[in-house]
Amino acid sequence: MPTPVRTQYLEMKARHPGALLLFRMGDFYETFDEDARIAARDLEIVLTQRDMGGGEVVPLAGIPYHALDAYLGRLIRKGHRVAICEQVSEPDGKRLVERDVVRVVTPGTVLEPGLVEEAANTYLAAVALDGERAGVAHADVSTGEFAVTEVALEDMARELARLDPREVLVAVSGVGEVPVDAEAMTLTPLPDAAFAPREARRRLLAHFGVSSLDAYGCESMPLATAAAAAIVDYLGETHRAALALLTGLRTYATGAFMALDPQTRRNLELFEAGRWGARTGTLLSVLDRTRTPMGARTLRRWLGQPLLNLGALAQRQDAVAWLHASSLRREGLRDLLAEVTDMERAVGRAGAGAAAPRELAALRRSLQRVPAIREAVAEAGDALGWLAGDLDPCAATLALLTDALEEEPQGEVGGGKVVRAGFNPEMDELRDAARDARSYIAGLERRERERTGIASLKVGYNRVFGYYLEVTNAHRDAVPEDYIRRQTLANAERYYTPELKEHESRVLNAGERMEELEQALYRQLCRQVADDASRVRRTAGAVAALDVFTALADAASRFGYVRPTLDEGDALIIRNGRHPVVERMLPEGAFVPNDTALRAAPQGRAVADDGPDAGQVIILTGPNMAGKSTYMRQVALIVLLAQVGSFVPADAAHVGLADRIFTRVGLQDDLAAGQSTFMVEMVETASILHHATRRSLVVLDEIGRGTSTYDGLSIAQAVAEHLHNDPRLGSRTLFATHYHELTALAGRLPRVRNHSVAVAEEDGGVVFLHRIVPGGADRSYGVHVAQLAGLPRPVVARAWELLAHHEQGNGTGRKKRLPGEHAAQLGLPGLIPGGQPQPSAVEEALRALDVNGLTPLEALNRLYELQQQARGEQGGANGRGG
Ligand code: ATP
Repeated sequence: MPTPVRTQYLEMKARHPGALLLFRMGDFYETFDEDARIAARDLEIVLTQRDMGGGEVVPLAGIPYHALDAYLGRLIRKGHRVAICEQVSEPDGKRLVERDVVRVVTPGTVLEPGLVEEAANTYLAAVALDGERAGVAHADVSTGEFAVTEVALEDMARELARLDPREVLVAVSGVGEVPVDAEAMTLTPLPDAAFAPREARRRLLAHFGVSSLDAYGCESMPLATAAAAAIVDYLGETHRAALALLTGLRTYATGAFMALDPQTRRNLELFEAGRWGARTGTLLSVLDRTRTPMGARTLRRWLGQPLLNLGALAQRQDAVAWLHASSLRREGLRDLLAEVTDMERAVGRAGAGAAAPRELAALRRSLQRVPAIREAVAEAGDALGWLAGDLDPCAATLALLTDALEEEPQGEVGGGKVVRAGFNPEMDELRDAARDARSYIAGLERRERERTGIASLKVGYNRVFGYYLEVTNAHRDAVPEDYIRRQTLANAERYYTPELKEHESRVLNAGERMEELEQALYRQLCRQVADDASRVRRTAGAVAALDVFTALADAASRFGYVRPTLDEGDALIIRNGRHPVVERMLPEGAFVPNDTALRAAPQGRAVADDGPDAGQVIILTGPNMAGKSTYMRQVALIVLLAQVGSFVPADAAHVGLADRIFTRVGLQDDLAAGQSTFMVEMVETASILHHATRRSLVVLDEIGRGTSTYDGLSIAQAVAEHLHNDPRLGSRTLFATHYHELTALAGRLPRVRNHSVAVAEEDGGVVFLHRIVPGGADRSYGVHVAQLAGLPRPVVARAWELLAHHEQGNGTGRKKRLPGEHAAQLGLPGLIPGGQPQPSAVEEALRALDVNGLTPLEALNRLYELQQQARGEQGGANGRGG
């Protein structure tokens, strides 16, 4: 027979399949069976075993109750769901203690300060699917944010990437349709019924206590409703207290934001950099000069969702400009903001009954700063004044916090040092009574020593016997009559007197009552603060926006950014642009700025350009390590920053708003998803060609590198031609490539320009100048770079030998047509020692032609193609070329 507690455990476990069960037993949370093995492994704690009755011995691993938060954090980070089972009745030594699961902690439902990241939102998302469209809801229980949208199914991944949720709820039948980054995101399947639209609507109405969803904007959006209801249900089951924080729902349209797909976020290193996803070296790390946690979260959100609306952008730019104009203003505000704490989460936690007194005291301090912040903002007139209306000091809540809460609340609620004196008369009385009784007892030792003449008499306290008077055996005879024996020790006796007993019970009674009362008062305080949550959150939102503006202005001033000109035109003109992150990593002044001039294909018939000579497609060639990737990312980042409302790292910039930024950069494989490196590259390229428009910015790095030279070159050329020729595209495009053959396109396609990154050769080595110059490059200096990288000498020597051989031999290596041109442009000597004039592609093709195998018509066609090709080559060599 298993013991009763084992039976109880198994029952709880059965009710929460899929969760690791922490089972409270006295001072420990215990795990059993397989859970114990997992906990021991993931928490690095000792695995033991325990006899559960009837000879059943099971694995056991436990953690002390007071260390729960720390261990919980580790379990959640490892992707576990954790059910916390508490003792809900007092142990009386006779009956089995009652237990119940009070909460299931999942990655998307955490609220504890140690578990949520301060500078990023912790979103729980839900997606409802119908085969064509998706409802996407998200909630942050730590801030009370709850919002929903509907998007086309194909846009769901992008919306999820923007939200970057910790956990996504989805119907079992839809699991395969949701792309997950398993490391960063937990996918939680729910029964399909949890998403049934009609039932969902009913549940949402019930949750908000309303009769229509009109006010939330999703009455006629069944998928959105279903997704939102799934979140409500799920929180109801896992974290009831947090459910109360979702007091409203916002329906939004993704159309307001520039869509950034997951690979573009990754490629541009907005939030994570390098192979290991580091925080340093990201755009966020350079710009995050915010002073408040709300500001940090908002900046992160804004960077991930650039805007498409000129008006909204002008508003942000004006705000940044006003703060940029004066360091005095900026510093004044930054000092004020530095004293504002996480108000948004503090009210949230108050609503869940989980706010610590220190947090409420911090909320009070923050609210006290609001009037000064509002004053500063009001001075800005149109530039920032609009924010003042939202900066509500929440006077009633502030007054309440001031009256109710000690200046520096100390200890646990119930210890009497949280509620301020004067707030509640009964509390004051109890405190006085306890204090009087305590001071009576404190004076007792002196009085009794005098009365009895026993100099060594002591007053003491222990938990079992309470207060006592202690007399050593040597003085036993001097003990007065009224002393009553309480406890005998080896060398002393302990006594009490009726008077001591009376005061003792006063201390204890007052203490007990005070504990109860203070807890009740504090709970009420939390509730009242939570009642004002929407107002506090609005203020927090305004503080956050102001914090971001100030941070952007500060970065702009510190790093020398300018306000870009924005319009809805076709141009992208940048003078002396810089990469915001790379320039910070190099010594001051070492970064070489570069210009950019791009213009989307004209609509309808061609119009004459009046700006700088701007191409639609820039073919960028140049050696390895020259700075091609840096340059292309810099252009994309400048556009992104401009559409966030920020200033940009350049001397001047004119940005015709981009509807999307697409990037396809570098080699990467997704073996886990069963895709090879080349397949990933092609899938991403395909997606770009399907989705880009005339208004997009397309950045392609090394298309076609993952396959054989001819396949790769053919694909690269076809892609470039398509971007140029397809009337639906015509996107502003940067196209970096080591296929120097592509430079010939400039001769055939009117809006293609060649640029290359300049290098100088010194003493047989290369010096990277990082300067973008007109014209194509004709070699990659790959072997140079390999040498710099420390490839063993014999390998490098052999590579040189082979390179010379290939270049003389089959003509598939470097471009043969342009060496004269480029050597002249770059001021370089003849590049390859002993290089021979190479046959052109037309000559090659002629040589390879099987004339006998052609019909007359094929021959004619072939002749025509060759002529075109020959003309193209000539144009490329002599034409505009830059
Ligand atoms: P590959 O073809 O090998 O991928 P690449 O041409 O794309 O090389 P990048 O990776 O962009 O080269 O740049 C290589 C390094 O050169 C950068 O890490 C950076 O330190 C430096 N660099 C790039 N651009 C500049 C610049 N404009 N000014 C100064 N240094 C630069």
